[in-house]
Amino acid sequence: MDPPKTLTDTHPLPKLIIFDLDFTLWPYWIDTHAIPPLRLPPPPPPPPPPPSSPLPTLLDATNTPLPLYPATLPLLAHLASASGVRLAVASRTHTPALALQALDLYNVRQYFDYLEIYPGSKTRHMHRLREKSGVEFRDMLFFDDERRNRDVCGLGVWFVLVGERGVGGGLFDRGVRGWRGGVGVAGAEEGKEVVEVVEVGLI
Ligand SMILES: [Mg+2]
Repeated sequence: MDPPKTLTDTHPLPKLIIFDLDFTLWPYWIDTHAIPPLRLPPPPPPPPPPPSSPLPTLLDATNTPLPLYPATLPLLAHLASASGVRLAVASRTHTPALALQALDLYNVRQYFDYLEIYPGSKTRHMHRLREKSGVEFRDMLFFDDERRNRDVCGLGVWFVLVGERGVGGGLFDRGVRGWRGGVGVAGAEEGKEVVEVVEVGLI
């Protein structure tokens, strides 16, 4: 996966980029699909390295595979190298401890500066993130698969609805460009896809 274009086009970026967990970073509900304890599968046999690295996948107590979305790990790695951008999780899962264990086992917890993982309204999560980070709502970009969570738009957070393949570079760029258009800074390109994101963001 190439770095999202908006990370290197020299235009402003949101100060805080926030990701939901279920159906945003991974394609399942952790509180209903995953039966603890979670574990990593045994390492693959040593000699022949696979042609492409396998998708990060966990196993639950029933050996059900629990993958990340293919784009999750490369996107987070690219964002971690972007200056001036911090990352957060906002999840309303009912099993926060299990979600934290999954983040640890996938080895992605290292990428997040803030973790707000508990049931309730996402507006509460955003308020906590503002308190902890000092970042104003207008400088936040939030990726989430559930339309009901767009209530954060009332605070001024820029909301991007995530589709069935998680957050890839294309959706990330459309989200950043939508945010730029919303706050009135340079780098919000015209285009059908951008308009769609803007419409979501203003609801
Ligand atoms: Mg979700």
